[in-house]
Amino acid sequence: MTLFDIIYSGNDELFARADKAIYDAIAQYGEDKAVAFPDTAYSLPCYYGVTGQKVGNLGELKAALANVKETLMGRKPRLNDVFNSGIASALCAEFLEVLKYIDGAAPYELPRYGHLSDAMIRELGVPLVTGDIPGVAAIIGTAPTAQDAVDLVKSYQAQGILVTLTGGVIDQCESLGLKTGFNIRVIPLGDEMQSVIHVVSVAVRAALIFGNITPGDLPGLEKYTMDRVFAFVNAYGPLADEVYAYGGGAIALGFPVISNEDRYRVPKSLIYQEDVSKFNATSLEARDIKLKITNIDIPVAFASAFEGEIIRRGDMQVEFDGSRVDCFELVHNKDASEVEDHKIEVIGPDIDEFEVGSKHSIGYIVEVAGKNMQADFEPVFERKFHSYLNCIEGLMHTGQRDMIRIRVSKDTFNAGFRLKHLGEVLYAKVKSEFAAVVDKCQVKVITDPEMCTKLRHELAIPMFDKRDERLTTLTDEGVDVYYSCIMCQAFSPSHVCVVTPERLGLCGAVSWLDAKATNELDPQGPCQVITKEKVIDERIGEYEDVNEAVRKFSQGALEDVSLYSIIEKPMTSCGCFECICGIEPLSNGVCIANREYAGMTPIGMTFSELASMTGGGVQTPGFMGHGKHFISSKKFMKAEGGIARIVWMPKDLKDQVAERLNESAKELYGIDNFVDMIADETVVTEDPEALLEFLTEKGHPALEMEPMM
Ligand code: SF4
Ligand code: ZN
Repeated sequence: MTLFDIIYSGNDELFARADKAIYDAIAQYGEDKAVAFPDTAYSLPCYYGVTGQKVGNLGELKAALANVKETLMGRKPRLNDVFNSGIASALCAEFLEVLKYIDGAAPYELPRYGHLSDAMIRELGVPLVTGDIPGVAAIIGTAPTAQDAVDLVKSYQAQGILVTLTGGVIDQCESLGLKTGFNIRVIPLGDEMQSVIHVVSVAVRAALIFGNITPGDLPGLEKYTMDRVFAFVNAYGPLADEVYAYGGGAIALGFPVISNEDRYRVPKSLIYQEDVSKFNATSLEARDIKLKITNIDIPVAFASAFEGEIIRRGDMQVEFDGSRVDCFELVHNKDASEVEDHKIEVIGPDIDEFEVGSKHSIGYIVEVAGKNMQADFEPVFERKFHSYLNCIEGLMHTGQRDMIRIRVSKDTFNAGFRLKHLGEVLYAKVKSEFAAVVDKCQVKVITDPEMCTKLRHELAIPMFDKRDERLTTLTDEGVDVYYSCIMCQAFSPSHVCVVTPERLGLCGAVSWLDAKATNELDPQGPCQVITKEKVIDERIGEYEDVNEAVRKFSQGALEDVSLYSIIEKPMTSCGCFECICGIEPLSNGVCIANREYAGMTPIGMTFSELASMTGGGVQTPGFMGHGKHFISSKKFMKAEGGIARIVWMPKDLKDQVAERLNESAKELYGIDNFVDMIADETVVTEDPEALLEFLTEKGHPALEMEPMM
């Protein structure tokens, strides 16, 4: 048989299975029975992406299958038919999978995930654009040995590559105790081959969410995934016809397949690699993936895949806890004569001198010197410590400044990890990422409790206070320039964030100071200076120079933006925003949902559904993606009356922003405890009438304001 024959026959088999399954389901439930994946606004994402049509019930699913047969299952021996047949196979698998979710069933149990939510994909946005996740590996089948499987997964994990597992490889990894989970970027999908569709669904939604690809534009979709989603497949032989059938689809999307089965070869697309220990190298080469390499001399792995790792009490060797004892982390800009490059000092007892499970003080000071270093960069570096330290396998860091907590796992301790390694990591990362301004760097790690107390109160806190003072003077009016950020253009080709002191990037990760530092470090890089001399409209925050910049950086896709309005020329969204707000007409206000909130809002949409209204670098009046910190900003939709428009937020988000939001409301409108006037899901989830009632009772200011539209 030729490769074409295999792909076609695999497709025919899948079609027959999907056909029968849909037929059976209709016999059982009737054509009107609803079908849907949970937590997505993209219906059956692959089918929607390929055809532009949404499927809501079994009758529509049946019609969709007929459509697949008619439009994608041509059988001429030509390349286009093979690719389409591969896509058709993927769609059949998606149909088979969605049937499992009928009646709100939860067909997958952790560690297996099955379908992945839109929120997860959005969360991957920033690490994908920064290259912290340089690629996506779809591992499928059963490895020659369980150890081979674990070795391969770990090799990708150490490179930051996101891994999905399908088939026997999941049990193999489990049998050797490998930890998996979305938080550490190793995601078991399911045991059946067809569950591989859930990673295809991620790639398709990335195109819809970030790329503004029109659903139904198959060539556009294929080009997007080929150019921007650095995914590839590792398929362990022997391969069933079904896997070849999906392989055709993977190749159509631009994802090469690397296998140890030497039945067929297609240059650059279906690649034979006999030695499974070389899958990693072969894959990276085939997909042309560049890794960010930081060589750090520590006894455990260091990769962004470990950032979300959680260390439970029972697994921890020791803990440093700023809520109980004096702790702090600090970057201190010093004179060159005071810094000896790469000096790492540990002052006080090391981890091996502490009892298992005990709590201690810690302070670490990264002292830097450089001709171009500025005190303004101190907090920029310092805020990265959280991510640097979390990249250490078996170390968990939370908080910042003098409210930090660090846990070191027993495994990591047993591997030889000590406090000097913490210093090594901070040194290596600060030196490599900020090379343009840091000439010399030394690290002091202090565990001596008295010294921690003294330094916290006499050095760290006064420095934090001074920085806070500086931040309050940083207003949009008080600076001469803003910055553009186009980091997300890797995925959202026309998106531009305009970052101002009072409006951070919508991802929440780029403040005006961050953008300033980024510009200083890499003048040709993603953050460029934007002047703000030619005011067009003060009220909505529109400037001729900002418009010019936006036009240039969006390659003409965007004409003009305002900084302070969500209705008139609002800023665009790429897709990775922390929060989204949307107008709630009855109350004349806006509801805000954060990515972590999975429930319903009074607008009648979930976060995912609201989020799907905007994105891909397009302006969508009435909806706006934004960072969490922007919620308490005095510039938050200032043109429409400001934060007084906020009528609803999830409770958790309210708690996070309460202090600053109350302060701003007091200052702007003289309102005390404004946050208490804002409804949340404990009061109302979807009924706008009930929301109105609550707001009336509280005397919410939005009710008195002019109609928004
Ligand atoms: Fe992306 Fe905007 Fe954040 Fe830059 S500031 S990384 S463009 S979301
Ligand atoms: Zn983004």
